[in-house]
Amino acid sequence: MNQPIEGKPGRYWHVLEDGRIQCDVCPRYCKLHEGQRGLCFVRARQGGQMMLTTYGRSSGFCIDPIEKKPLNHFLPGTPVLSFGTAGCNLTCKFCQNWDISKARDFDRIQDLASPEAIAEAAVHSGCRSVAFTYNDPVIFLEYAVDVAQACRERGIKTVAVSAGYISPEPRIEFFRHMDAANIDLKGFTEGFYKNLCSGKLAPVLETLEYLKHQTNVWFEITTLLIPGENDSTVEIAAECAWVMDRLGPDVPLHFTAFHPDWKLRDALPTSANTLRMARLIAMNAGIRHVYTGNVYDPVGQATYCPACGAMLIGRDYYDVTAWNMSAGGRCGECDTRCHGVFEAMAGRWGRRRQPVRLRRSEPEALERFKA
Ligand code: SF4
Repeated sequence: MNQPIEGKPGRYWHVLEDGRIQCDVCPRYCKLHEGQRGLCFVRARQGGQMMLTTYGRSSGFCIDPIEKKPLNHFLPGTPVLSFGTAGCNLTCKFCQNWDISKARDFDRIQDLASPEAIAEAAVHSGCRSVAFTYNDPVIFLEYAVDVAQACRERGIKTVAVSAGYISPEPRIEFFRHMDAANIDLKGFTEGFYKNLCSGKLAPVLETLEYLKHQTNVWFEITTLLIPGENDSTVEIAAECAWVMDRLGPDVPLHFTAFHPDWKLRDALPTSANTLRMARLIAMNAGIRHVYTGNVYDPVGQATYCPACGAMLIGRDYYDVTAWNMSAGGRCGECDTRCHGVFEAMAGRWGRRRQPVRLRRSEPEALERFKA
């Protein structure tokens, strides 16, 4: 078994008058006595400072299709080296990755990986990007930033799959190092965030507006539709109206199907009809690229030209089955540009998932990254 890693000092915290320290990474602002951990479980007070206890540790690596993040307008068809750590700063009762996000037993975090080793693994495996996914990278910001820097040095792009629940100051540093993101907009009422995630909606909307108006990060939005919780036509229409008003028509929106999990096992799975209804509402609101996910729906998963309506990219789940664009994402019929990051041709990775183990010499390499 690998030796435990102590972690690395974290950024974004300050000492309070009563002697506790406050973590300023996310809007929870956890206030900690010595030896305590924040709600995310991975940021802890040790020796009077905040430590990221999962620095350099991963719950596993896997090569995925980029469409699985989901990102449909970012290097379609290419493989992405995906990994996560443990813990989360939201407590979603419907979590679809609860074995990782709720992990308290760090034996689960088996793989030791320096930022350089991850970037090297991406290069050697032919991946175009590395994704911070499976759990929210906001809570392991320092590790994600170091990995992103190592990746950029080798021409590998980085993708954050996040709920966007991050405070304004760390948000600047975090997204400065990312090339793309998929942001989970989990619902569109404060009640939903409060009751099912013990969080707030407003900071997530701030993150979305920040990404659109103050960065060059390519981002797409995902809303997991849960029957009876966030799938009313009123709530979906309100979300779409906000997206149009604050972000404009070109940010892709994914509506994905829920399957009963974690503490929400009594809820029904989302029907294909609900997803199609949501897609229709969004398109009627003016959003140009709206997708369904976690169901078989070639019509709802294809990309269409916003000007002439021609199919630009056909998909069968995560397989790219048709391609009708020239370099730079221009429509093969009318030459209108489709927003996103496109090359002349699609990648050929397909829908495969391929687990990856990093090399064993990692403990020594990791020492270089400790403070
Ligand atoms: S990142 Fe973790 S420790 Fe920091 S405020 Fe958020 S939940 Fe608390």
